Amino acid sequence: MSEGRVYLVGAGPGDPDLLTLKGLRLLREADVVVYDRLIDKRLLDHCKSDAELVDAGKFPDGRGRSQSHINNLLVTSAREGKRVVRLKGGDPFVFGRGGEEVEALREAGIPFEVTPGVTSAVAAPAYAGIPLTHRDYSSAFTVITGSVAPGRQDMEHDWTVIAKMPGTLVILMGWRQLAEIADALIVAGKPKNTPAAVVSWGATVHQKSASGSLDTIAEVAKRAGLGAPAAIIVGDVARMHDRLNWYEEMPLFGRRIVVTRTRQQAGRLSALLAELGAHVLEIPAIEVQRLDEFSDLDLCLRSLADFDWIVFTSANAVRAVCDRLIEIGMDIRAFHGLRVAVVGKATALALLARGVKADLVPSSAVSRRLGEELVEQGIAGRNVLLPRSEIASEELPRILSAGGAVVRQVDAYRTVLPTESREMAKEAFSEGVDAVTFASSSSVNNMLELLDGDASYLSEVAVACIGPVTAEAASGRGLKVDIVAKEATIASLIESLVEHFSE
Ligand code: SAH
Repeated sequence: MSEGRVYLVGAGPGDPDLLTLKGLRLLREADVVVYDRLIDKRLLDHCKSDAELVDAGKFPDGRGRSQSHINNLLVTSAREGKRVVRLKGGDPFVFGRGGEEVEALREAGIPFEVTPGVTSAVAAPAYAGIPLTHRDYSSAFTVITGSVAPGRQDMEHDWTVIAKMPGTLVILMGWRQLAEIADALIVAGKPKNTPAAVVSWGATVHQKSASGSLDTIAEVAKRAGLGAPAAIIVGDVARMHDRLNWYEEMPLFGRRIVVTRTRQQAGRLSALLAELGAHVLEIPAIEVQRLDEFSDLDLCLRSLADFDWIVFTSANAVRAVCDRLIEIGMDIRAFHGLRVAVVGKATALALLARGVKADLVPSSAVSRRLGEELVEQGIAGRNVLLPRSEIASEELPRILSAGGAVVRQVDAYRTVLPTESREMAKEAFSEGVDAVTFASSSSVNNMLELLDGDASYLSEVAVACIGPVTAEAASGRGLKVDIVAKEATIASLIESLVEHFSE
């Protein structure tokens, strides 16, 4: 049995993109992940599907969260030869009890490593536009805990020392005692008009921030609806918050948006939404799978020379066909002499990536237009190959056949509903979602299936569709469509979402 090992990994303050590359690699390889209550659950999407995920705040046997239970679990799992990731909020060695955990590991003779994370002490002010140091205002910063309450004789900070520290003071775990801390600093000699700011849930969709001065900050922050977890910043740099509070100003800041696309395709839409400040919940509503049986497709591919046109209605079809060509010992040269039509830009790009330029891209990316424009090209008597998924609609082949074409449809890939998505979807909508995006009619149908056909999950949610056909499908399933992209592209879908939320 190989030797187990424990990796203390800093998850960063909230935004899952703030995980380090090393942390990501360790998460992907972990057999067991023991995670803190505050971490963003989307980080766990990186784990292997069979990894054991343990919420350190809720042990399965009902025992409460306790440091010794966590330590025991780490030791036992590592002794079983497992790679254990202990995923901790922010940085593991900044007020995270990481020190105690590695002491326990060393004592038990378990090898460990520590991967730092972005601490909230730095990230929360950064996401609120507060630089901790600044050539004009601050040449140092100090991070203290606020949980050592003023008045607690045993462990109390020496506030006269802290009040005299040069530069910026950052206080973690201080929300509950904010008023007492501010008083203690003033009593210890810090001017009461010293600028101060509070950032709660920094670098997350729930971020809120407020600024004032030492004597007003407790009141101001409470009135602005802030709460724990919060970072408190005291010093001249806190004044910059008003001018530089960039994150909360982003066009989609704070919006929880569900992206329903295939695993293979969600990436770009999600990344672009996140770039605009949205909290993206990716729910795989369709998963593309290989066919079980390739004989029909292979037959068509081997006789490509008999066809006049090949028509692709999705990037998945392009990938499936091109991959299969290679697998059976052929390559893209087999397209020689064929004319190629695609439904839209994304499909055209997928094809271009394989070295083929489409001959026909319809003026709008819907299969009806594709059919009509092909018919306009004069396809009567032509042989048309249509590789697609098993559940594709009948509209396109009907239009082509009516136009006189000899249409050969062949399955190129399968689509299935990922079972784990059911729970994910219901949980997301129950927790509250601002918008849901649909990039195809089948994703509408699949999403409703995930929700057991219950459209009421979406009654409070803005429904955004990539085009009129998808919108029609959504209305047909009882959804009220709020947003339809002007052009059937991802960029246009995002633009429409931004417009919708800026109204
Ligand atoms: N190891 C963590 C800190 C753990 S102590 C780190 O390096 O960030 C928990 C305290 O961290 C909270 O009480 C709060 O003060 C702060 N904190 C954690 N996440 C935060 C966030 N997203 N925004 C602001 N403060 C946060």
